[in-house]
Amino acid sequence: MNSFIFILGRLVEFYKSKYINALQSGLFEEKVVRARQILKDCTACPRRCHVNRLQDEIGECRTGYHPVISSFFPHFGEEAPLVGNHGSGTIFIAGCNLRCLFCQNYDTSHLLEGRTTEITQFSNMMLKLQKMGCHNINIVTPSHIVPQLIEALKYAAEDGLTIPLVYNSSGYDSLESLRLLDGLVDIYMPDFKFFHNKRAARYTAVPDYATIARKAIREMHRQVGDLVIKGGIARRGLLIRHLVMPGMLEDSKQIFEFIVKEISPDTYLNIMPQYRPTGEARFYKEISNALPYSDFRKALELAYTSGLQRLDKNF
Ligand code: SF4
Repeated sequence: MNSFIFILGRLVEFYKSKYINALQSGLFEEKVVRARQILKDCTACPRRCHVNRLQDEIGECRTGYHPVISSFFPHFGEEAPLVGNHGSGTIFIAGCNLRCLFCQNYDTSHLLEGRTTEITQFSNMMLKLQKMGCHNINIVTPSHIVPQLIEALKYAAEDGLTIPLVYNSSGYDSLESLRLLDGLVDIYMPDFKFFHNKRAARYTAVPDYATIARKAIREMHRQVGDLVIKGGIARRGLLIRHLVMPGMLEDSKQIFEFIVKEISPDTYLNIMPQYRPTGEARFYKEISNALPYSDFRKALELAYTSGLQRLDKNF
């Protein structure tokens, strides 16, 4: 009987979203204090602008204290284990610290289309999505608003939010912010775009994407482990996305090998075929056409050959 209660307890613990523990243990309070300190001399992301965002000073992400949110809705186009029957409760944050010139959400990421939003409105969006039946709260492009996300999550948890939190980023995340998120995020879903800084620097606004993303993804995996799916729905863990780029299969190969050796061969990976030349990509000849389907097939083969078996079948 005692062991039955023990196992039941462990199961209940497992299914509880991580931030519920933070709420019950009082951990949120110190995280919110630290988050506000970070904003005062902003080092929320690796760009380390040192502006006072509590006073609405603007750094590279061009976002002051209040996040700009472009939309929120149950999303049925995400990976199947996030979507289930009722959708992934997606909140699109405008602005970006990485700014890929080929971004497929250019209006949102580069042009900041969206509404400046109070933190309490941000938390209310989470609660509305839960009420709609969504399986999770999926924050898209959060790297530059981690402190505000922590504050909004605290209010939402106090008001009854219980579903898993998905952190859906470019991978250009600071270790300091990720450590602040430790114990709050259930599912990390980073992109892993380029394996080499030089190539990344040509197509993004930063010189060190690959170095930062490798460290960030290691830290994410340390916190949540491999993706755990129960009843078809993702509960906890790491899900990596990789967009295959024209003429860059060598980068894809090195990314897959890195994941196997340094993260885990059981990593859940979504290899995405949908590259097309949006944003400013038409000015760069080598990426000015859509990805040939043969390149995508080749990328899948490379992933299997490197030892990855948990590939998303959304293609
Ligand atoms: S979050 Fe924005 S202001 Fe802060 S360091 Fe990053 S780019 Fe700069």
